[in-house]
Amino acid sequence: MFDALSDRLGNVFDSLRGRGALKEDDVRTAMREVRIALLEADVALPVVRRFIDTVTERAIGAEVLRSVTPGQQVVKIVNDALVEMLGGDPEEGGSSQAAQNAVGLDLDAKPPVVIMMVGLQGSGKTTSTAKIAKRLKETEGKKVMMASLDVNRPAAQEQLAILGEQAGVATLPIVAGQQPVDIANRAISSAKLQSFDVLMLDTAGRLHVDEALMAEMKAVASVSTPREVLLVVDSLTGQDAVNVAQSFTGEVPLTGVVLTRMDGDARGGAALSMRAVTGKPIKFAGTGEKLDAIEAFHPSRVANRILG
Ligand code: GDP
Repeated sequence: MFDALSDRLGNVFDSLRGRGALKEDDVRTAMREVRIALLEADVALPVVRRFIDTVTERAIGAEVLRSVTPGQQVVKIVNDALVEMLGGDPEEGGSSQAAQNAVGLDLDAKPPVVIMMVGLQGSGKTTSTAKIAKRLKETEGKKVMMASLDVNRPAAQEQLAILGEQAGVATLPIVAGQQPVDIANRAISSAKLQSFDVLMLDTAGRLHVDEALMAEMKAVASVSTPREVLLVVDSLTGQDAVNVAQSFTGEVPLTGVVLTRMDGDARGGAALSMRAVTGKPIKFAGTGEKLDAIEAFHPSRVANRILG
């Protein structure tokens, strides 16, 4: 994960750390290299600019350059700015509900609490739905039901049923010919009747963001009043993932992002730009095809990984 970016930054900081004294020019030279590394990682340009300005301003402060370990101080400043760029650290920063449970989701509502999963086709939405359901069941002890509202893609509903069996999570029985809003209503009634804590709605994907998709998402959201609306995007698509997130923001009340295929993402552009561009927190990182391959997204841990 993020190997290419990590290697590039590692080279820049190794040379900074090795020096006993630093001048303003040394910091500026290093920041030029960091800038190139971030752009090569496909981080959005305005995000890169803001990051470099912030770090430079903090790093050329007199105390930093005059300190005994200026190189290390600069690396610390970069680390802190990276954590901020990734969305800040809930453990240190705030006392949100999301920080209180291990999965980082707000489930503080009358059951069945609805989690709506949205995203483009192939982003990893169905797999992520099952991964999160399994995690909620295993770490939070929640009774979870999943329902597929995808009536466009052949066998999408069957796919979720198979994943449900693998994950040991219940799925809503399939009724052929039913439309998404009707399936959502049936899922809610069924989850209420059977006292499920959480209902996960796996909505239909499309190849591109279009009006029909947004209309369907809005209709489903209005009947199901989801507590969380999670957008699933593929980290390998870099800034496109951020653009998709921007298209969804404003149309549906997104509460967070699931970034899939982080296991194959050497660059990190989507992860690094997402929060700054869309204002939405990354809540989970998909790290493989298996149902356990998902991690709650912790900005400080990710920053540590990038800086080595
Ligand atoms: P959907 O069309 O958005 O529902 O996508 P799927 O959930 O069917 O996933 C498409 C493919 O991506 C499947 O082969 C998944 O196994 C794979 N996939 C999903 N998430 C990840 C991930 O985090 N890492 C990797 N390597 N593969 C993933």
